[in-house]
Amino acid sequence: MASTCLEINHLDVHYGDLQALWDVSLKIEKGRIISIIGANGAGKSTLLQTIAGAHTPSRGEIVHLGEKINGFKPYRTLPRGIALVPEGRHIFPRLTVEENLLVGAYLPKARKRSRQVMERVYSLFPVLRQRAGQMGTNLSGGEQQMLAIGRALMSEPEVILFDEISLGLAPKIIKNIYATLLEINKTGVTMVLVEQDVQRSLKTAEYAYVMQEGRIVLEGRPAELTDEAVRKAYFGV
Ligand code: ATP
Repeated sequence: MASTCLEINHLDVHYGDLQALWDVSLKIEKGRIISIIGANGAGKSTLLQTIAGAHTPSRGEIVHLGEKINGFKPYRTLPRGIALVPEGRHIFPRLTVEENLLVGAYLPKARKRSRQVMERVYSLFPVLRQRAGQMGTNLSGGEQQMLAIGRALMSEPEVILFDEISLGLAPKIIKNIYATLLEINKTGVTMVLVEQDVQRSLKTAEYAYVMQEGRIVLEGRPAELTDEAVRKAYFGV
């Protein structure tokens, strides 16, 4: 039987007086890819950031591998194997590609294995090896996205939360990056894809959730979600 990687039950999250998440529940089996889609402001980033520990839920629970991790800050979620690829990539401007990757391996366990893991990142994204000595911010948008993913891989995570990795990239580059994600997933890494590129993300994921105004309004296997139902849930029309 497949074991559960992440389980979220009845999660509420507030920014001061503003409630951003309402009663959000979802479940991800180990090694699976799930997709969370929804329009701007639906709460997708808030959900990922809360799992990674950037926000403390006001209600509900987050369970990772059987342990409740509500309110765990990123310095506690990362060692547990939860990595976030943030929206906007957040490449460190004064660091080279290689130095950016090494930032992802700052935990003692990861530091010890950093050369080995970096080789793996370079084999997944050969362009990063070619650009190893260049400043991270000199890379193209697609290369920076690969670097952000590579940096997350440096901690050898067991689950990766991807926030809008397609944003602003050409279709050909998105296709390449997604092909590499599938390769990474084959090694057993669980993945949560937050995307506005609905088609691409539904094609890749095994299960999908649609969010609207802080709530999950639709879920199912991508094949079961009709275009019309997704459109209705997505736009509320
Ligand atoms: P996007 O694709 O634009 O990132 P999203 O679905 O990820 O959208 P969130 O960024 O999670 O949505 O935003 C959910 C709600 O929370 C929105 O109403 C947004 O304005 C609000 N919000 C997000 N971040 C903050 C913050 N730091 N402080 C206050 N309100 C916030």
